[in-house]
Amino acid sequence: MAKLIICDPVAADAVEAMRALGVDVDVRDDITLDELAEVIGEYDGMVVRSRTKVRAPLIDKATKLKVIIRGGVGLDSIDVAHAEEKGIAVCNTPAASTNAVAELALGMMFALARHLARADATMKAGEWAKKALKGTELAGKTLGVIGYGRIGKALGEKAKVLGMTVVAYDPYCTHEDIVSMDELLKQSDYISLHLPHTDETHHLLSTAQFAQMKPGAYLVDAARGGVVDEAALYVALTEGTLAGAARDVYSQEPPTDEALRKLVELPQVVALPHIGAGTVEAQNRIGEEIIKLVKEHLA
Ligand code: NAD
Repeated sequence: MAKLIICDPVAADAVEAMRALGVDVDVRDDITLDELAEVIGEYDGMVVRSRTKVRAPLIDKATKLKVIIRGGVGLDSIDVAHAEEKGIAVCNTPAASTNAVAELALGMMFALARHLARADATMKAGEWAKKALKGTELAGKTLGVIGYGRIGKALGEKAKVLGMTVVAYDPYCTHEDIVSMDELLKQSDYISLHLPHTDETHHLLSTAQFAQMKPGAYLVDAARGGVVDEAALYVALTEGTLAGAARDVYSQEPPTDEALRKLVELPQVVALPHIGAGTVEAQNRIGEEIIKLVKEHLA
């Protein structure tokens, strides 16, 4: 019987479904990396989410491992090339959270346009800040989507329904909405990021790009920490080049670094604790896709 270790939280129903496939499943969803290194040699498969980082030293101890399944989109927490060199398959559940992240990005745009977080905070503080909270509408505005893959396109479709004009930048995609980065920066009232963090995309938005953006534009970032230069973003927000930013991802998570705390605490920033894929529906879909992958590789 194949042995599978689940290293991060996965829905209980999904675990039972994997056992029903005849797989011996150990749920160790709070295991430390040191503990994992001691036991990984016993397993044929492992399931991780974002907490457990699978780097070369751990992979070298995984002598029986056939598959690493990551519940989620990015594979940046796994040393994929090293695993594949050792003959270990690496899979993820890329489409399961598309709609959840696209809806959140839209929610972040509404939060910026109507100052929703500040409206709620002032009410809870006993204030009636009606006059100070005049917002704007999304209809008639231009949304620039950087990274026009699954999530970027899903957001684009929703934004068009709301009456927004959508332009996109993605060097690997052909689509009628695609424009150059310069055009996107110049035209957009909102810019939303939906691309991976790689060497190529590190600090893709920095001082020079913020300077090209429309004065008073808003930034939405539910992609990955590191795509935006956070020091440059802080300057753009405090100098008023950008009117606001909504962020779900940070270069350090949770963001405890002093400079990052200052960015999170700016009143024109809506800060969320990386909840993009955190819906009941997306988590269920991730569970279903993990079951399919376990069946394919281990059952
Ligand atoms: P995807 O692979 O379908 O789309 C990513 C797109 O980015 C691709 O079309 C690719 O061509 C494009 N891209 C790559 N390099 C680029 C560059 N230099 N400039 C512009 N575009 C570039 O992925 P997806 O499912 O749409 O997810 C997008 C990103 O969202 C993921 O990489 C992940 O980092 C992030 N994500 C965040 C959460 C969250 O909880 N906030 C959840 C899921 C995914």
